[in-house]
Amino acid sequence: MSGRREEILKELGLWPQWRLKNKRASAATPPAVTGDRRERILRMNWQELKASVASCKACPLHEKRTQAVFGVGDENADWLFIGEGPGAEEDAKGEPFVGQAGKLLDSMLASIGLKRGENVYIANVVKCRPPGNRSPEPQEAWQCEPYLERQIALIQPKLIIALGKIAVQSLLKADATIASMRGRLHDYHGIPLIVTYHPAYLLRNLPDKAKAWADLCFATKTMRGLHGQAALSTGNTNSS
Ligand code: URA
Ligand code: SF4
Repeated sequence: MSGRREEILKELGLWPQWRLKNKRASAATPPAVTGDRRERILRMNWQELKASVASCKACPLHEKRTQAVFGVGDENADWLFIGEGPGAEEDAKGEPFVGQAGKLLDSMLASIGLKRGENVYIANVVKCRPPGNRSPEPQEAWQCEPYLERQIALIQPKLIIALGKIAVQSLLKADATIASMRGRLHDYHGIPLIVTYHPAYLLRNLPDKAKAWADLCFATKTMRGLHGQAALSTGNTNSS
């Protein structure tokens, strides 16, 4: 993160970010995705990346998918929302968050003046549906990780919102509860990241919606700070 960005976030009381002191490297951590495959994926353009995901067989999730679900939205978005993996409806339609949880995500976006596809990109940790709506296994998430890594590098969002525990585990390598991670700014390779509850969890735990709302307000405030920084660095201080 640049010094100027840090200064602005400090002024807003959003910095220093909280980090897990001992990011737990689980004993079960398998070796990373083989170097060659990962390196190849990390050099792909959008077209190559989409084609690679569509035909990917790198983990067992390919066996039962109808289709891989790549991601959707503005490929130059400031906002990137990351969920867990496709469910049945996403698997059928080929688009993330189109079921019940997706409707709630769309309302969450609307509540802070955002709309799917407009300055917003939505992606998942794994691109293929885990059968029976189970969570992806760590090995599946690891195999799929380079795709999300490349999507993030191509989009270059200003802010990432990690939706739920699987997204947090995958992006921050942190095995911690959402409750302990929310309300602070985290860092994904230099990109500010905010943690909140997964919309599917919120559908089952309605009282926590208020906390998700607080997280979205925190995110809006952070984005405003980041835009302020951009305006300052270009000499354009007219706020809109
Ligand atoms: N849940 C997710 O995490 N992602 C989707 O695309 C749909 C439901
Ligand atoms: Fe490939 Fe990811 Fe689908 Fe697994 S989930 S088959 S790694 S695209």
